[in-house]
Amino acid sequence: MKTALVIGSGLGGLAAALRLRKMGLNVTVIEKQERPGGRSNVLMENGFRMDTGPTILVMKDTFDETYRALGYDINQRLHFTQLDPNYRIYFHDGDSIDLYSNMARLAAEVDRVEPGSGERLFQFLGANARKYELAMEFVTRNYDHITDLANPVAGVRLLETQAHQRMYAQVSRFFQSDKLRKAFSFHSMFLGLSPFDALSIYSLITYADMARGMFYPKGGIYSIIEDLLTLAAEMGVEVRTQAPAAEILIQNGRAVGVRLENGETLSADLVVSNADLPYTYQKLIPAAHRRDYPDRRLERMEYACSGYLLYLGVDRTYPQLQHQALYFSDDYRANLDAIFRTRTLPGDPSFHLNVPTQTDPSLAPPGHSLIYMLAPMPNLQGGVSWDSAAPQVRETLLSRLEQIVDPHIRSHIVWEREYRPDDFASRINAVHGTAFGSLAHGLFQSAYFRPHNKARDIQGLYFVGQGTYPGIGMPMVLLSARLLAERVARDFHL
Ligand SMILES: Cc1cc2nc3c(=O)[nH]c(=O)nc-3n(C[C@H](O)[C@H](O)[C@H](O)COP(=O)(O)OP(=O)(O)OC[C@H]3O[C@@H](n4cnc5c(N)ncnc54)[C@H](O)[C@@H]3O)c2cc1C
Repeated sequence: MKTALVIGSGLGGLAAALRLRKMGLNVTVIEKQERPGGRSNVLMENGFRMDTGPTILVMKDTFDETYRALGYDINQRLHFTQLDPNYRIYFHDGDSIDLYSNMARLAAEVDRVEPGSGERLFQFLGANARKYELAMEFVTRNYDHITDLANPVAGVRLLETQAHQRMYAQVSRFFQSDKLRKAFSFHSMFLGLSPFDALSIYSLITYADMARGMFYPKGGIYSIIEDLLTLAAEMGVEVRTQAPAAEILIQNGRAVGVRLENGETLSADLVVSNADLPYTYQKLIPAAHRRDYPDRRLERMEYACSGYLLYLGVDRTYPQLQHQALYFSDDYRANLDAIFRTRTLPGDPSFHLNVPTQTDPSLAPPGHSLIYMLAPMPNLQGGVSWDSAAPQVRETLLSRLEQIVDPHIRSHIVWEREYRPDDFASRINAVHGTAFGSLAHGLFQSAYFRPHNKARDIQGLYFVGQGTYPGIGMPMVLLSARLLAERVARDFHL
């Protein structure tokens, strides 16, 4: 039986391990941290169960397909609720709007903010539906040659949707008000890109989110990781935690195993790295074997943004809040330029506010709530000192909570944790402390141009997760696991 070693137990690493097992390989996952899950992780303390990473589950079909490929039905194993509204959006001036996935309600809400824009909303979503369908053609395939990119029909149709324009500029053609422009352009931040720089093709996420629905699994996102771990145990995949890899062993140009930090060596027919791809090349592969990705190329790549997270347990409930919300600073552009261009600390950070206990009170002791705040921040390339910045950002976020949630919020905090950009670097080996994923989704780091899931310079070495294609986010890393499995099946004639 062929053997595979998967370095890293992120969502993509676990999905890949299970798919390879299903194909008949003997698979072991080695994970640096104590708890598997990578960026999709959890804190379980003092009766609180807080998802620490992703909370927005869109493109649920990618989760359904992953389970189907393994021979299971995810809906029989986990209980999903569709959220509606998807988000409440708070603005600097105290106004707020709800982004419903019920289209009639969404149109009414949009019309309230900008009279007459309801009609244009449908044109906007229609244009993005088209982008979504066409873009799927590019994200659900393995690339071998640049000509694989050139499906002329899909390419021409994509150009017709103006997919090459900037996202914010294109949203601005449909909506005049600053509020709606913000509300329909922020999604690119989840890919580590400013909407002022992102190609408008990424409005497909806005469509996936608004029109295809956002879901919440009971127990939170980490319940999916837990379920994958249960399947791993049932299917015979060993997941070893606190087992950091120190080096990918290479003989005669072929990956033959891994040396762990404790000196133990594990051999395998193939090695799949789910750890950040730039980190894998820089730290786990000796320079002599790195023809394709020498340090100078890795340093020239464009890295995504980071984030500061504040997790709070409070001793009261807030029936007026929505499960998911966003706060946009008044000067959206200045906020985004600080994060993505000057890489300095934004003065009035925009943030994501998640209150999962609104849907699932079982995540906290009775009468308590969980509050999750995620403020996108510059990655560590900007040199911000987080020992001095973190208390400042925490203070700004708490002041905003006083304005939009409860003027006495501080007196209700009974549990608190934070996660900073330097934590992403030290805990999960994210190069430059990126949060959502390592490599930004510029044109030349997407599709064929993103690092491939098979190393060209080292036989038997593969990649899965956000660093390879299709890219960042839970649905994309699940697709990357599918593409990896297809690639291995072809290479090993399985
Ligand atoms: C705060 C936050 C919010 C997010 N919000 C959303 C969201 O709402 N919706 C969404 O779809 N996506 C979201 N994302 C993005 C999404 O979580 C990630 O893109 C995705 O989970 C990455 O999965 P992955 O398979 O690439 O592995 P990762 O999660 O990146 O895991 C890699 C694993 O490799 C391990 N590792 C590293 N080095 C070694 C080593 N030497 N030896 C062994 N193991 C090693 C790490 O410890 C880690 O466990 C969010 C991410 C963050 C951080």
